[in-house]
Amino acid sequence: MGVDKITGEARNITAKISAHYVDNARTLPWRIPPRLSAAGTLPDPYHVWLSEVMLQQTTVAAVIAYFKTFTARWPTVADLAAANEADVLAAWAGLGYYARARNLHKCARYVAEELGGNFPEQEAELLKLPGVGAYTAAAIAAIAFGQRAVVVDANIERLAARLFAIDTPLPSGKADIRAAMDALTPEFGAGDFAQACMDIGASICTAKSPKCAICPVQTHCAAFARGDQEAYPVKPPKKAKPMRRGRFFWIEQDRRLLLVTRPPKGMLGSMRALPDDGWAASMNGHGEPPLNGDWQVHENVVQHSFTHFSLEVDVAVYQGDMAVINKCNNDDTGSDNGKKGEAGLGDAIWWPIDGIEDAGLPTLFKKAVRWAEKHKREV
Ligand code: SF4
Repeated sequence: MGVDKITGEARNITAKISAHYVDNARTLPWRIPPRLSAAGTLPDPYHVWLSEVMLQQTTVAAVIAYFKTFTARWPTVADLAAANEADVLAAWAGLGYYARARNLHKCARYVAEELGGNFPEQEAELLKLPGVGAYTAAAIAAIAFGQRAVVVDANIERLAARLFAIDTPLPSGKADIRAAMDALTPEFGAGDFAQACMDIGASICTAKSPKCAICPVQTHCAAFARGDQEAYPVKPPKKAKPMRRGRFFWIEQDRRLLLVTRPPKGMLGSMRALPDDGWAASMNGHGEPPLNGDWQVHENVVQHSFTHFSLEVDVAVYQGDMAVINKCNNDDTGSDNGKKGEAGLGDAIWWPIDGIEDAGLPTLFKKAVRWAEKHKREV
């Protein structure tokens, strides 16, 4: 079905999707149930913004616990703005895409300091906030402020592409998908309509084996009529991900591990981490250790997949004289007041391995810690 034929059916499709939401809305900690939103109650914009930033490239199941932790620790945008960036990054550890956490904190500070703690209501104003793109601005405007905004996330994209059998491959097909959702989005209740579409996309019109038998818009669905539902949305041919190699440096003394803080710019910026050899999305690491001495290298013990590349990591374990690095902080409380380490180790600090969960290491580095602890038990 072409987008030009949507208009005639739009009212019926919108009504069925909205009616389905009333009885089937997912209960999520950042949402207002449909019976309350129908009566005019809107959710806290801080909650909507926080959840939408967390949900970018992360599943609902993974986000729920983080959302509860953040809102318990920082109940308002002003509380989050007043937090240390290091604490926010540590609380974010495990959600990935750490630029989101840095932008989250930057945005909280902007809203608290420049806007009196109030999020803007209009999509165009929301778009000016750090870390808020077109999708997030539309979602906040519609869900938190009741504005008519066209919301298109990956679930909605799939639902619309199938409903109208939109066969232009992504990303070019996004324009037709947006036009379809524009035709369907109601003047009032755009927030609940968007959440209704998200829910159908997440639990009925799933990427694999969609549950068309219980779909409220099955009779309108062009892909269902053709029997080729899983062909939509049409994806461009996959490019092979480049493989990069890197090396972590494991320096341990008395059950304490030497950690550094990564530079603020670049991947996993400002996060605590093991020292490494400078690997990046665009290049392999140089392999050189941060100090001379005896190192035992274990090849390819950690594998990790980023969006645009895969990484294989060696772990080099220091077996040299500890006196060489004794200029590093010996404080085993794990506090961040470390003295300068030796060349290449920057602001290194000793961190107790038994409390390593509190260091807020990104998943990639946690994998190395798990490998090392297991490896030590095996030798
Ligand atoms: Fe998706 Fe099937 Fe519903 Fe079509 S009928 S929108 S393919 S679940």
